Amino acid sequence: MTALENVEHGVIVKLEYTLQIEDEMVESTDEEGPIEFLQGYGEIIPGLEAALYGMQIGQEKDVTVDPEDGYGEYDGEAFEEVPLEIFPEDMDLSLGMPVELYDEDADETVEGFIAEIRTDTVMVDLNHPLAGETLNFHVKVVGLRPATPEELEHGHAHGEDGHDHDE
Ligand code: ZN
Repeated sequence: MTALENVEHGVIVKLEYTLQIEDEMVESTDEEGPIEFLQGYGEIIPGLEAALYGMQIGQEKDVTVDPEDGYGEYDGEAFEEVPLEIFPEDMDLSLGMPVELYDEDADETVEGFIAEIRTDTVMVDLNHPLAGETLNFHVKVVGLRPATPEELEHGHAHGEDGHDHDE
């Protein structure tokens, strides 16, 4: 056994990062601590994942990610008009509010946010809130460890408490 020294496919990476769009800080691990993920399995956006290969523990880097390698281009067609009545009556709807819609055909839940409230319907924007944005990351690799067989099978990192989700 040798210690892991570089980010490579199939290892668990512990990462600190900040995300800025233009000059505005959008996300940071300063408060909640580093994220952990399985490198190479699409747990994080492709443009960031690709930039991490070969990085060493303690190494820092600035990474700029274009929309197509981040949260996608903004899609002006990606809106869904839904009846107002599908929301609970006591729900206080407001612009920008995140909502989850259930797509019966695909049997899956999609996330969006309220773009417009009309008389009987609500327009839900299904674009990711960061779609179309160029993302400026500053990253620091703070830990590496081998993935467990279960993590590789599931294709994602498990927390330090073990398997704590219900997939
Ligand atoms: Zn799992």
